Amino acid sequence: MKRIKTDVAVIGGGPAGLAAAIEAKRQGVDNVLIIERDVELGGILQQCIHDGFGLHRFGKRLSGCEYAENFIEEIDYEDIDVKLKTIVLEITKDKMIYAMNENEGMMQIECGAIILAMGCRERTRSQVFIWGTRPSGVLTAGTVQRYINMEGYLPCKKAVILGSGDIGLIMARRMTLEGIEVEGVYELMSSPGGLTRNICQCLNDYDIPMHLSTTVVRIHGDKKIEGVTVAEVDEKRRPIKSTERYIDCDLLVLAVGLIPENELSRKLEVKIDPRTKGPVVDESFMTSVEGVFAAGNVVTVFDLVDYVSLTGEIAGRGAAKYLDGKLNLEDRYQSIVPGDNVNFVVPQIIRSDNLEEHLPIYFRVKQKEKKVKVIGEIDGKICLDKKHVVVLPPEMIVENIKSEELKSSNNELTISVKVG
Ligand SMILES: Cc1cc2nc3c(=O)[nH]c(=O)nc-3n(C[C@H](O)[C@H](O)[C@H](O)COP(=O)(O)OP(=O)(O)OC[C@H]3O[C@@H](n4cnc5c(N)ncnc54)[C@H](O)[C@@H]3O)c2cc1C
Repeated sequence: MKRIKTDVAVIGGGPAGLAAAIEAKRQGVDNVLIIERDVELGGILQQCIHDGFGLHRFGKRLSGCEYAENFIEEIDYEDIDVKLKTIVLEITKDKMIYAMNENEGMMQIECGAIILAMGCRERTRSQVFIWGTRPSGVLTAGTVQRYINMEGYLPCKKAVILGSGDIGLIMARRMTLEGIEVEGVYELMSSPGGLTRNICQCLNDYDIPMHLSTTVVRIHGDKKIEGVTVAEVDEKRRPIKSTERYIDCDLLVLAVGLIPENELSRKLEVKIDPRTKGPVVDESFMTSVEGVFAAGNVVTVFDLVDYVSLTGEIAGRGAAKYLDGKLNLEDRYQSIVPGDNVNFVVPQIIRSDNLEEHLPIYFRVKQKEKKVKVIGEIDGKICLDKKHVVVLPPEMIVENIKSEELKSSNNELTISVKVG
């Protein structure tokens, strides 16, 4: 087995991994290695040919590929090592990575620090129970995106979309532009799962109907899908038999959510937050395993890639400080906890000695509210008080807290969203 040594290894060459690698190198780390299983860098962004990426960071509407290209050029410029077509199979607590590719076979990589940036994966049919046969023609929205945008295939003539997640909405428009009839988007919940801008630009502008509180109850077809039965659901999300309706289609697209990709993290026994389904991270995005950091969608599913890149930079800086012995690794830390109407908070813990000038806190609300205040409270004192006209569950909120507000206490910081 080949043996290699590196200071920082980044697993995954998507936007989180690219930003992390560049930042670690800029902070003075000599050897940074990106390990990517795909044939090129960029991650999921390479299949996102639509625009809307990078508004915060570059002040422009870039396509996913253009956004990624900016970082890939930096990787070249900074002379960062990259191993493509290389899959990481295991990470051990002593920061050893086991990976393989077709040219070098198995390799053992000894690392000073590791950054997990494996992104997320889509929920499949097996995670959303649907009765019926198991024909071909049931694909996730990301797979359809890859077929059309990268492989040049049109997978069908008439599609039904289950779930109103952003990738499904984007694919409703993309398929329509390619001449595919999109019969409609069916959403189990009573409110849409995707961003408002995607509902306007991808459905309303193309007269594609969205049916809320409605789901696919049965798939029909022997070898190839022939149609689906849809039905409205009651308040307990049980299908209402009398509303069942058959729809002819040759593709069912599933846009039913993303899950952080944490097989490797679990094997490593990194502590996982049941709310985010990703590693619990501290202010430097270090996980519960010392010297192992995480960034991007592996931590929690972000809606904007700009935030993904920011978390990559925090993890990259954290890894550089760790190697320099400048991170306080004490067991003592403060927790950040979700309060009223807050679903989860990232990061979940802070060691105040490591704080930079501001601490960015990422979170989502549980339910839509208008005219609210985001409140940060520690020791009964308010350290954050920010008004929002409206908050929606699909939209990640980021608030910066001045670190000096946190340094004077060792107690829990609670983030709440309150009406008024
Ligand atoms: C199918 C799909 C489509 C999406 N489309 C959009 C969209 O249209 N618009 C939008 O704003 N957001 C979209 N997103 C969200 C998007 O994932 C994020 O904005 C962003 O790409 C996340 O960056 P990341 O670096 O965390 O993950 P990714 O971009 O997913 O990158 C993770 C990388 O890690 C690699 N990797 C994973 N495991 C291993 C391993 N064991 N060994 C080596 N390499 C590994 C993967 O190959 C991948 O390149 C989409 C997500 C998915 C899953």
